[in-house]
Amino acid sequence: MPPIRILSDRVANQIAAGEVIERPVAVIKELIENSIDAGASRIEVQFRKGGKSYIRIEDNGKGMSPDDALLSLERHATSKISEAVDLTTVSSFGFRGEALPSIASVSRFTMRTRSADWEHGTEIKINGGKLLEKKDCGMPVGTVIEVEQLFNSVPARRKFLKTDETETAHINYNTRLFAVAHPNIAFRVLEGTRTIFQSPACENLRDRIAEIWSRNLSENLIPVKIQDPNTGYRLTGLTAKPGLGRSTRRELVTMVNRRPVDSRTLSYAVLDAYQGRIQKGRFPPAFLFLEIDPREIDVNVHPAKREIRFRNDNEIRRFILTAISETLAARITNTPYKNPQPQSSTPEPSMDLVQHLAQSEDKVDLIQSRPISSSLRNTDTSAVANVKVQEQPTTPIKAVSTWRLICIIKKKYGLFDTPRGLVMLHIRNADQRIRFERILSAYKTSNVPSQGLLIAQSIEMEPLASDTLLRYLNWINKQGFHIEEFGRHFYRIRAVPSWLELDQSEAFIRDMVDLLRQRGTSDKENKLLWEAVAKLAVEGSYQRSDLMSDVAVQKMAETLLNCEIPHTAPSGKPTFCEISWSEWDKRFGNA
Ligand code: ADP
Ligand code: MG
Repeated sequence: MPPIRILSDRVANQIAAGEVIERPVAVIKELIENSIDAGASRIEVQFRKGGKSYIRIEDNGKGMSPDDALLSLERHATSKISEAVDLTTVSSFGFRGEALPSIASVSRFTMRTRSADWEHGTEIKINGGKLLEKKDCGMPVGTVIEVEQLFNSVPARRKFLKTDETETAHINYNTRLFAVAHPNIAFRVLEGTRTIFQSPACENLRDRIAEIWSRNLSENLIPVKIQDPNTGYRLTGLTAKPGLGRSTRRELVTMVNRRPVDSRTLSYAVLDAYQGRIQKGRFPPAFLFLEIDPREIDVNVHPAKREIRFRNDNEIRRFILTAISETLAARITNTPYKNPQPQSSTPEPSMDLVQHLAQSEDKVDLIQSRPISSSLRNTDTSAVANVKVQEQPTTPIKAVSTWRLICIIKKKYGLFDTPRGLVMLHIRNADQRIRFERILSAYKTSNVPSQGLLIAQSIEMEPLASDTLLRYLNWINKQGFHIEEFGRHFYRIRAVPSWLELDQSEAFIRDMVDLLRQRGTSDKENKLLWEAVAKLAVEGSYQRSDLMSDVAVQKMAETLLNCEIPHTAPSGKPTFCEISWSEWDKRFGNA
């Protein structure tokens, strides 16, 4: 066996590079992070062939002196930490002094940099980890790094790279994320000479999203600003209006301490908060910034990946879920078409909290981390809505609808003129939402309007279904039904709730019994069960909502806006869609 030797720095760097710089976008990510750390207010990224042949990053940050420039290319040279304990508090996910030497060890690398207290800059050229030259150069304060022929010296790594198109797509997406994470930094990204996107420094996140994503998207997001005084967790950003769902999760962007991260904990918590508010299988666009103590992040995760783990996973999950749920719920009570309603569910902040907030630059809503009932974790679509229903007193809100019906289109839509824009109402979805909430609210008050059948209808049930019906008979009969047993497996329907069409009674009762049977008897949460029944009632064809008059559709809009969750049907499908007046102005070129 050959004797043990200490690896040369060059080899160590190449190994590190192989581990942490998997692909061109990882190089770009490291270099952008360095530029941000250097206080740059302008960053330009240029690349060719998916970054394989050429990457260039220019910033106007604080740059480096000639000595620091050389030092920065030494392994484990960093200006950011000095002691091992720092590792737990450092807010950087970088490679702790490994990025530059690693990149330089597997490419043709050129760095030009100048700090403000030097008249000239320094240019350093390295090829495959070997220093080729160092000389003075003229340049403004800042840093330019060029990386050519990435992995040329490491053919094994090069083989793992995907097509140029795929690598380019990764770069496009990830540079956008950085731009969103730092709205106040001007960004420009070019593929060859073609600008992929550029954005000047923006006042706020919404402007930045409008600049680099789309204005339409940015207008369909609502602000989130919530802080938990107990844990210090803080969530800010923008999140989708209910009903706005996308087919991919690419626009569900989460940042932790301003760095784009992938986290199942975060994205699942957001998805859960949207249950029943967007269609199943779709994803809400959201740009969310979590700020937490860096010690709460598990640092032992692969440094090059965007994946992140939290020490206190459940706590974080609960915070995000509550924060988004409350934001969406508050949004409903605060929509401009309604009278403002006191937020009775928000606890009064204590004195020192108020002071604390007065000092912080932004006003942040407070939430107490309260336990979330276990039913919320894994139940069906409207569990979150449920909790809301329980928490908020059901004081009726006086509707002052400012929507004016223009016309009904295709017997399907209602077109409305509103102060904010043109609204297209989906009559069937809206009708489902309204009937759903009506059924639920009747259930809550246990005062269910009922209608008697002139001639009692008798039905025979299958033995198993009959068992189920018997078991639930009392419960069902409290909900506006009057069903009695009059022989083995024979029943008489004497009355049904008034929300049910008489001639649909039998079909509905059979379906309801099926549903009860499927849900099983262990379902102690009767309210959830009733919700499932209500969903069945509105989604089936047990009541006709055909041919509505103008008056009825106008009335429907008003009723809808008074619903707990007006934006979606119980299935999560949108009930209406709005195009703002500013969007119209823009489309006609006079924004
Ligand atoms: P780390 O970022 O973990 O410190 P790097 O290898 O990425 O390690 O960078 C090494 C050092 O080089 C940094 O700590 C910083 O002092 C300096 N540096 C790197 N990039 C820049 C830049 N764009 N502007 C100014 N200084 C930089
Ligand atoms: Mg770095």
